[in-house]
Amino acid sequence: MNYCIQCILPETRPGLVIDKQGVCSACRGHEDKERSIDWSARSKMFDSIVKRAKETSRDYDCIIPVSGGKDSWYQVIKSQLHGLKILCVSWRTPQRTAVGQKNLDQLIKKLGVDHIDFSINPDVEKRFMMASFEKKGATGIPMHMAIFAIPYRLATQLRVPLIIWGENPQLEFGGPEADRLSTELDVNWIENYGVTNQTKREDWIGINELTDADLSPYALPTPADLKIFHPNSIFLGSFFRWDSFKNFEAATEYGFSSNSSNKKTGSWEFADIDCHFISLHHFLKWHKFGFLRVFDNLSVEIRYGRISRKKAIQNLEETGLQKPCEDIERFCDFMEKPVDWFWNTTERFRNKEIWIKEKNTWKIPGFITQEWDWEKA
Ligand SMILES: [Zn+2]
Repeated sequence: MNYCIQCILPETRPGLVIDKQGVCSACRGHEDKERSIDWSARSKMFDSIVKRAKETSRDYDCIIPVSGGKDSWYQVIKSQLHGLKILCVSWRTPQRTAVGQKNLDQLIKKLGVDHIDFSINPDVEKRFMMASFEKKGATGIPMHMAIFAIPYRLATQLRVPLIIWGENPQLEFGGPEADRLSTELDVNWIENYGVTNQTKREDWIGINELTDADLSPYALPTPADLKIFHPNSIFLGSFFRWDSFKNFEAATEYGFSSNSSNKKTGSWEFADIDCHFISLHHFLKWHKFGFLRVFDNLSVEIRYGRISRKKAIQNLEETGLQKPCEDIERFCDFMEKPVDWFWNTTERFRNKEIWIKEKNTWKIPGFITQEWDWEKA
């Protein structure tokens, strides 16, 4: 395994490239944030985007896709400061957490916005999620398709001229330079980076008896739709320097609650707390790519200058393997399957290019630390 020399991300992270100097594209992205991007010019660009939206809107100036998380709050607060009339749109996960629901309710009430909570037929979600897990070893494909398609399609159909997404993931978590510097989240971007394992909605028709009609909530606007009305779809994080900790502070000031007992996924008590199934999405990366959510969180903290790489590795050792056992049980309940089914399916996707079996124990040769309990792997 090859790791970035500045942070702790491995080269196996999808979309991440480690260059000849040993530095990953996420760390390079952070350098872009400090050096290559002229934030005052970007801020002026944002002003003109706002102006254009206000001139062309009928009722709502923009749609903000929200989960209720800290970033959602920041997106709404920032957009309100620019005088935008906002429609918030969320995809209702089949397993929203209590704190997730509370935060979403508070966001709508305290920030005073209109909101559509879009639910998909749970039976369709169940069949789609099962197909996605069994065929690709990923539970998050339906979730990601829904998150991107629903606000995009609504903006097109309701003629809302602007969609304001959160961070630019290529800038925050690594990606090619052109995409790090891009400001737009368009259909091309969704097809490349929408975390759908390079599949489209159409690819799932016929699997687990999923019909074209069943999958209509996941449909993106067609080129013909976009010819009639094409919303401007942008990352807020491309116009204002993204900082998860500052977003958390801003959100908290207005009434956002974190979940201090949430230690099952990553090291931030304020992130990945909206849905009981998000932990599975992150956990499955362990078998496929040999890293966990905590690698992302700690790497961001290194880039922000909050901790050293050495301290991050210590922190990782202390955290150990985070197995979201309770959420796995919930997932199996939702799927009406035994827990063994989850583990057997997960095992099928263990990446033998990075894992080896030694005396009945799976290990990753060249792992970032020697201090690791492989018995739990
Ligand atoms: Zn790095």
